[in-house]
Amino acid sequence: MSEDIQKRVAQLSADLHHHNYMYHVRNEPVITDAEYNRLFRELQELEAQHPEFAQADSPTQRVGSDLSGDFPKVRHPAPILSLSNAFDESDLVNWEERNRRLLPADAQLQYVLQPKLDGLAIVITYEDGVLVRAATRGNGEFGDDVTANVKTIRSVPLRIPVDPERGAAPERLVVRGEILFHNEAFLELNREQEAQGLPAYVNARNTASGSLKQKDSRETAKRKLTAYVYAIVDSDGLDLESEWETLQFLRDMGFNVITEAALCEDLADVTGRLPDWEARRDDLPFEIDGMVLKVDSFAQTSELGVVGKDPRGAIAYKFPAEEATTKLVGLTIGVGRTGKVTPTAQLEPVFIGGVTVSNASLHNYEQVAALDIRQGDRVIVKRSGDVIPYVIGPVVGARDGSESAIRPPESCPFCETSLIQPAGAVDWFCPNPKCPERVMRTLEFFVSRVAMDIEGMGPQTIAALIEVGLIEDEADIFNLDAEPLLALEGFAEKKVENLLASIETAKTRSFEQVLTSLGIDGIGSTVAGLLTDNFSSMQNLLDAAAEIQSASESFAQTAEPLLPVEPTDDAATDRLLSRLRHPLTELVPRYLDAADLGDRLARLLKPLHLSADHLSALQDALSRLIAASRPLHSIEGLGPVLVENIVSWFTDDHNQSVLAKMLEAGVNMRAEEKILSGSGLAGKTFVLTGAMSVPRGEIKALVEANGGKVTGSVSKKTSYVVAGDAPGSKVDKALKIKVPVISEDELRALIAL
Ligand SMILES: [Zn+2]
Repeated sequence: MSEDIQKRVAQLSADLHHHNYMYHVRNEPVITDAEYNRLFRELQELEAQHPEFAQADSPTQRVGSDLSGDFPKVRHPAPILSLSNAFDESDLVNWEERNRRLLPADAQLQYVLQPKLDGLAIVITYEDGVLVRAATRGNGEFGDDVTANVKTIRSVPLRIPVDPERGAAPERLVVRGEILFHNEAFLELNREQEAQGLPAYVNARNTASGSLKQKDSRETAKRKLTAYVYAIVDSDGLDLESEWETLQFLRDMGFNVITEAALCEDLADVTGRLPDWEARRDDLPFEIDGMVLKVDSFAQTSELGVVGKDPRGAIAYKFPAEEATTKLVGLTIGVGRTGKVTPTAQLEPVFIGGVTVSNASLHNYEQVAALDIRQGDRVIVKRSGDVIPYVIGPVVGARDGSESAIRPPESCPFCETSLIQPAGAVDWFCPNPKCPERVMRTLEFFVSRVAMDIEGMGPQTIAALIEVGLIEDEADIFNLDAEPLLALEGFAEKKVENLLASIETAKTRSFEQVLTSLGIDGIGSTVAGLLTDNFSSMQNLLDAAAEIQSASESFAQTAEPLLPVEPTDDAATDRLLSRLRHPLTELVPRYLDAADLGDRLARLLKPLHLSADHLSALQDALSRLIAASRPLHSIEGLGPVLVENIVSWFTDDHNQSVLAKMLEAGVNMRAEEKILSGSGLAGKTFVLTGAMSVPRGEIKALVEANGGKVTGSVSKKTSYVVAGDAPGSKVDKALKIKVPVISEDELRALIAL
């Protein structure tokens, strides 16, 4: 018997050590927090009953570690403690009772209650009011020195007090806080990822951790992290008596303190507030996994002391888990409007955070492979807020060998076309634009509220109209007549009238909205806005795409005969050949503003030993492609992958015919005229360089609307170079050949004359 217990203690210790490592160091947890807590409590209880079996390095004796090898280590001035957990009200009552036994009989216990942030603990030191050091919690004793990275977080004051009128900083102050993504910032980060054609981040906490541990602080600065401060670890020259006073002091110093902390009269006051917090958790701007409850008085806290790694005076109240494990029993394959194939896990139903979940997102096949999720695995599923439940990963230890690998299907389950995976993409696609599933999803999106917003046209109506052959694509919607609709079952006169009226209204949606509605991969409202800032009509976009396509083809015709047919055995040469075969993504962005294109191209192509004639032919073809691509490539925020998507969408025959039909039916395809026009610039030629107060496309349109011309390069024929902030080499060239350089304001003044 006692041997079994000893074995169990050893097993639990080993498991918990492993899970600590996976969670804190690798950022790849394989069990849920709830399961971790269960194992941890079991070990704690066994050790309490049989202290003789407790190992010196038992996980109950130490705080988990987030240390990694990349940063210098910093010793914390006092141990950074963790909290013990309560899972229901009775845990809280027991906790208070145990505490009362250690305090005088008449002790009044007041509590400070605040949300428990699901972020990364951080310890920040200020000397004479100046931020001198910031470290992660690490193992509680030592942390990683991430000072440079933390300094980039705007909600962390570099000097305190932020407002000198709010008191004076102590000689030394060490505070503890939490670093995290606000939900909105995390969503935005993922929108940017998507716009660049990169995979989305799955877990906000892990992404915050990865962002904080960048070796280059400029990378951290790009992420919109937020910091909250809630405790003082150590200080010189401070005399505070309670948690509540501490929060007030931190607020006065200018720290970001959670505004909703509450001072509670007694434990009943605390428990009375918990249900309300649990109901509100999904409405908060950040993720929380529970509430923290602290004895308010520092005198009482120090009397209570510390047990193991937990201070007795504080406890975390955990909300019911939003994660659970269950079995992955099968897969459903969905095809979206862009043709993107998404695998969804079918699960043995499991109860998570108040609902039964039987499907969960697997994101994409690349992710499935990266996480090594197999059919038949026990998997960890997370559900939080309005987010679709998703699979975090497999429980590798639960495998019995019957699991099988998951691979993408070879053909589309709806139309049997072979699937393709574009170079560099993580997703697989059904390339058939007439695929019935794609058509259905395209139309569903097209009429939805975020797109053309056609009221009265839900999925059922669409399905009915497709069924009888009244619509085949988006454009057909705008040619619907009352008569055939009235002949359909369930389409009464009033309904048809309303439907046709909302279709009529939809024809007047803004150009930007129409562009968003087309559902082009990577073009949401943000990118659509960038495009409509730079292109005044659909026709301009079509022309630009056609020009790029034609320049790409002629580049390929020039290049292909010069390149070796067989793959070489030299990796560098192969890479070079691949670049030449994908000039739009590989060469154009690189040489967009190259003043010495000829020299640079000659250096790049040296390994191919081309003749001078061939080199110059390639240079001409590339110059033409660069010129054609410039209107798209020079738009900030538009990555090369996106540019390629745009070109291939707008040069596709099917898409072109849909657009032509829509235009004919009277759908708006022009940007609003917002520019004053005139002829003050007639006969003048302008070159634009550097950042202007508005997108360069708008300046170009302004010049053109006033009769001027805008060209790409400076020559003797150029009338003016208009230079914005950080102009390029064009200004030097202009000065050299004596072309006048003017500012944006001077340009506007010219127009006003
Ligand atoms: Zn298909």
